[in-house]
Amino acid sequence: MAAGIINGGGSTDPNKILPMKYKWARVHYKKGVANNWVPEEVPMQQDVELWKKPGGLSEDERRMILWNLGFFSTAESLTANNLVLAIYRHITNPEARQYILRQSYEEAVHTDTFIYCCDTLGLNPDEIYKMYENIPSIKEKDEFVVDMTKNVFDPSFTTEGTENIQRFVHDLVGYYVIMEGIFFYAGFVMMLSMLRKNRMVGVGEQFQFILRDESVHLAFGADLINTIVQENPEIWTPAFKKELTDNIMKGVELEKKYADDALPRGIVGLTPTTVKQYVEHIADRRLERIGLERQYHKDNPFPWMSEIIDMPKEKNFFETRVTEYKTGELDW
Ligand code: FE
Ligand code: MN
Repeated sequence: MAAGIINGGGSTDPNKILPMKYKWARVHYKKGVANNWVPEEVPMQQDVELWKKPGGLSEDERRMILWNLGFFSTAESLTANNLVLAIYRHITNPEARQYILRQSYEEAVHTDTFIYCCDTLGLNPDEIYKMYENIPSIKEKDEFVVDMTKNVFDPSFTTEGTENIQRFVHDLVGYYVIMEGIFFYAGFVMMLSMLRKNRMVGVGEQFQFILRDESVHLAFGADLINTIVQENPEIWTPAFKKELTDNIMKGVELEKKYADDALPRGIVGLTPTTVKQYVEHIADRRLERIGLERQYHKDNPFPWMSEIIDMPKEKNFFETRVTEYKTGELDW
């Protein structure tokens, strides 16, 4: 059997990166490097003034910001741990591993971002870092991802055989498509709406940088999933596709619940209804990207999100249609 992206066996040497088999992995690596940033580059003075000024932010705005800091602060570590401890060892191809190392570094930068936000705004770390235990809508998302990715964490798990390859792809969908591709996006749209209104601009700009990184993580994850399916077509049965679609739809329900909790009443330019429509819209983009059928058929209520992701050099894979992606700059 020829060396594939998993189960290369004796024919894949993880130390021999050239010549390269999966050029897309290299392209994502270079995009990650081109997006390089660190949180300290973003000034926080305006945010500190607004955050501390009595009545500077409405109660609903404060709640929305806290819920998003609470979710992201621990979710970034959860994703980093998944990558390094579980996914990395099963992907033996060297250029794919090079990308995963880059992504792991970016997750460290994201973790650092929330340390920086807590420090500059003077937030109580016990409050922020306990929200994933104390806030049910956050806890449910994290528990869902932990549950969806438990196969890869089993030390005796291998990707040998059809059923195990299916379990692996199942977990990759949980990690890359649901966690990174859906669970971050209600938060992105909320925080970037604030940025557009010139409120909490430092935090907003950091979320914008994270969004750009995450859109590449998601693109890598989708290419990884699609490659495994291509190389192991026997796994792609109607029952397996239905299982993955059902899981993604469960993720969408949890994200909508989170959106209602973080934004119970709506603030200027942002209502729970439009945020939930956005979640459904992006879920369809994710489904299509890994060869599954759309389920929601909703227009994008926030077309400016795609523009933000595309600026200045980042090309987004998901807010645009699959057909455009295929004829775009990345048609290697
Ligand atoms: Fe991240
Ligand atoms: Mn990520």
